[in-house]
Parts: sequence; structure tokens; C-alpha cells
Amino acid sequence: MSAPGPISTDVQPERVFDWLDEEAEKRAGAGLVRRLRARTAEPGDLDLAGNDYLGLAKDKRVAGAAAAASLRWGAGSTGSRLVTGSTELHADLERELARFCGTEAALVFSSGFAANLGAVTALSGSECAIVTDKYIHASLIEGCRLSRADVAAVAHRDPAAFTHALSTRRKQRALVVTDSVFSVDGDLAPLPELWHACRAQGAALLVDDAHGFGVLGDGGRGAVHEAGLSGSPDVVTTITLSKALGAQGGAVLGPRRVIRHLVDTARSFIFDTALAPGSVAAALAALTALRAEPGLPAQVLAAATGLGARLREAGFTTSTPEAAVVSVHAPSPDEAMSWAARCAEHGVRVGCFRPPSVPDGISRLRLTARADLTESDVDTAVRVITETAPDRAR
Ligand code: PMP
Repeated sequence: MSAPGPISTDVQPERVFDWLDEEAEKRAGAGLVRRLRARTAEPGDLDLAGNDYLGLAKDKRVAGAAAAASLRWGAGSTGSRLVTGSTELHADLERELARFCGTEAALVFSSGFAANLGAVTALSGSECAIVTDKYIHASLIEGCRLSRADVAAVAHRDPAAFTHALSTRRKQRALVVTDSVFSVDGDLAPLPELWHACRAQGAALLVDDAHGFGVLGDGGRGAVHEAGLSGSPDVVTTITLSKALGAQGGAVLGPRRVIRHLVDTARSFIFDTALAPGSVAAALAALTALRAEPGLPAQVLAAATGLGARLREAGFTTSTPEAAVVSVHAPSPDEAMSWAARCAEHGVRVGCFRPPSVPDGISRLRLTARADLTESDVDTAVRVITETAPDRAR
């Protein structure tokens, strides 16, 4: 908080942004500076940082579909979904996503972030109580902030805590919001228990299945499908097209009347340029590839489990992979950063999560498994991570 006092209007234009340098210094002191690194088209190193779980981003069927659709429809979608941006491809993708996951309908957004913002805000409002897991994705948190609802963030993966918050709410309508697979450690939400809590308390359930779709459930139909909830009248699922499908964009899946409501009211749908035709076509082609190769998701899980086991054998503390994500504990934000940088120098790209992305304050190397990861890739990863580890990492 600024000290109370008269407001000075006499500020030189070149000093208006001085406060940014002060903030940057504080972040540098706390080891929280973030750097953009441009990768090259053919990096030649081992990628354990991206979210291309099924290895479809560069698949010729998928990338080729994007190229063909761009040539046919244009590089951009030319407008918002309600004006000129909805192509036949968007309608096809929505139909196919709903069919694949067993929901009545689906709606494509320009990103998973926009899908989450739109779904949470449109399905809540000031007459609603929202109860969330305290570790939900930032896009859901932003949705809650914009919603004007009463928001309670409760203990991680704790159905009793949800029930308590729901039963003590002050609003008639209630929406429970959770990730299916949590981004940092890849642990799973107890979806059946949360749904029972919702049923008992007259609440709706919104699940962000960004990391579950394409990886969990029958043929990759996701965690909500696996829990037997995807056709439920009180359940809404959000997904991204940018992870397992290797494309770009997001979607909301659920009952037809929910989708109709989002078309009329979700601001991140209405006021946003529609997803580019190339991305839509890529997602459609990836969905076709996933249907044709229903064994791909099991390969991701096996790769993640193997990677986690090997790293634990090497003495590291890791998460227990339940989807594609494997995280390795690092002693501090600085050491996590420099560890990840040393891995990159040795040809292994890993992610690095630090506060505020990790709410418990333990920094992590974050690895993501892929369906096409080989034994020799795992050997390389474990060797490099071990050789570059800071002293206090084991
Ligand atoms: N939800 C979760 C759990 C995510 O990890 C992400 C992406 N990091 C998103 C939503 C946002 O999806 P997108 O990248 O498509 O905007």
C-alpha cells in the first residue's frame, strides 16, 4: 500500500514506468525472473517440457491438415464466432468432440484459457457460490475473480472440504470447480467423490480436463469420461486442444443448454476472434488419429510411470505420475532455474515451476512424458538430470 499523502501529478513521462524497474529488481532478488527462449524449428534435443503428449503436433496428418485448411479458408478466421469466424470446420470439430466424449454438445474457444474464463464466468455470477480446489489452474482462478460470485478455495483434493463449503454457502446456486489432473504434480482430483458432493448439495461440477483429455479414460476420452460423468446433466468439462491434440485452442463440453448459454453470454467467446481454421483442422485431424490409435494414451502413461520410477531410483523426490506429468523437487527457485538451464545445455529441455506457479513453495523441474519417448530417451533424461543436479536435490 502507498503511504497516504498528496498525489503528485508532476511526473516526467520517462519516469512513469520507473515502478516496473523496482518490481523487476524485487523479482530478481527472489529468483523469480522469467526468460523467453526462442526454440529453433529443428532443435535436435530431447523435449520433456512441452505438452505434445501424443507426439501429434508434428504428425504429418495433423500439421498437413492445418496447412491445407489455411490455404482453403485463410490464415486467420477473419472475425468473432458470431460474425464471420465460424467455419464448417468449427462446427465439425464441435460435433466430433461431443461425440468422442459423450456429451450433448461442445463449443470451441480460441484457447483453453479463454474456455475456462468463459465457462466459469457465464455459469456463475453474483447469485452463485463457487467452491474450488485451492490448486486450480490460473485461468480458472481468473474466471472466479471476474465472476462476482462468492468464492471459497478449499483444501486440495478433499471432498469433505467441498461438502463443508457447499453446505455453509449463502447463495442458492453453486458451482464446484476443479482441475482433473493438477498441472504442477500431475495428481488427480477425486472426481466421483466431488460429483457426489455436488449431487448432495445441489451444485454443478465444472472440470478442467486439460491434462486428462487424450491421456486418461477409454481411448483418451479424458478423466471426466473415465469417471462416468461426461453425459451428466450437471457436469461441464473444459479442455485444451493444445496438449494431447498437438494443435491450439480450447473447448467446453456439456449439456446443450449450457453451450447455448455460453454462446449468448460468455464474453471470452463473444468478443474474441474465432480460432484460426488451421488450428481447428489440426485438432480434427488429431482427433481422427487418436481414434485410429487408441493405444497412444497408455503409452504416455507407461512412459511417465517409467520416468518417475527411474528418477526415484536415482535418489530424487518425484510426484507419482497419474497422467503425463512427472515433477522433481528442487531445493529452491534459483537452483530449479539453474538446474533446468544446465539440462538444456546438455540437450534435455525440462520445465521449471517456481512460486507463484507452485503454491506450496517447493520449486520443481517439471517433465512431461510423450507417447513416442524411447528407452534411450529415458536413459538420457535420467543421466542428464542426475549429472546436472544441485547438491541439495537428493
Ligand atoms: N488449464 C490447464 C490445467 C492448463 O494447464 C492450461 C495450459 N497451461 C490451460 C488450462 C490453458 O489452456 P491453453 O494453453 O489452451 O490456453
